[in-house]
Amino acid sequence: MRVVRRAVGDVEVIALLDGEADVEPITEAFPETPRDELLREPGVLGAGDRWHLFVRAWVLLHPEGVALVDTGVGGPGSPALEWFPHTGGLPDALREAGTSPDQIDTVILTHVHSDHVGGTVTGDPPVPAFPRARYLIQRADVDFARELADTAEDDRALWERLLQPLLAAGVVQELDGDHRLAGTIELHHAPGHTPGHQMVRVASRSDRLVITGDLVNHASQFAHPDLPSNSDAVPVLAARSRRELLAGLLSHPGTTIAPTHLDAPFGRIAFEPRGLARWRPDPA
Ligand SMILES: [Zn+2]
Repeated sequence: MRVVRRAVGDVEVIALLDGEADVEPITEAFPETPRDELLREPGVLGAGDRWHLFVRAWVLLHPEGVALVDTGVGGPGSPALEWFPHTGGLPDALREAGTSPDQIDTVILTHVHSDHVGGTVTGDPPVPAFPRARYLIQRADVDFARELADTAEDDRALWERLLQPLLAAGVVQELDGDHRLAGTIELHHAPGHTPGHQMVRVASRSDRLVITGDLVNHASQFAHPDLPSNSDAVPVLAARSRRELLAGLLSHPGTTIAPTHLDAPFGRIAFEPRGLARWRPDPA
């Protein structure tokens, strides 16, 4: 399903499927994870044991406005098309959800990878795709992307095509750590996947939800938080951030998890008797 809605107290959280495809071999994406742990999650196993990657974005209809979390792989010319086989369906999914780009007042970017920031701009030359929005990015990730731009062609494309036009338009608000966006929404700096990776916490009435960005990219990382994804920039920091997430879930066990790349847009964590945390997708 391309659009899945969830009430979190007074906030409506809408999961939008930007796309899905088989990408690299799953054992290369998670090189330190035992193969049997990878295979126990059939929902993300594609043909030939490739990683079946779901890419999602999220709309938050909250009492103070409308926010979008991440922007998918993007349209024609997007740097993500170097490794992802088709353009993103976010514009269609937004329409299906009854939301238009000019209703979005805030775009929260969890981190500066091409499957999360691909749809931030539109057109050629690129301009901000969400004309009324300010874009919230951790300063550490803006610096990270700027530094990488000199090292590889796809990193240069990401910087020049996706981030520079936003900065030139003056719509970026660079954050230094945790940031309260609204009474019900808080951004939490959870570094490691990138230096400025951030999660989004939604809390309203007695309900809680966490949009985890790419902190957890395979469900086995809930049980084995020290095992990295090959795209974790600073694995030791990512492991610490995953442990912090798990500690928070122990304190608030009813929290809904909203992951970018797992096999379902919403789910929960169940702690087994020995303490291993297991991903339990919500029924579709
Ligand atoms: Zn990602």
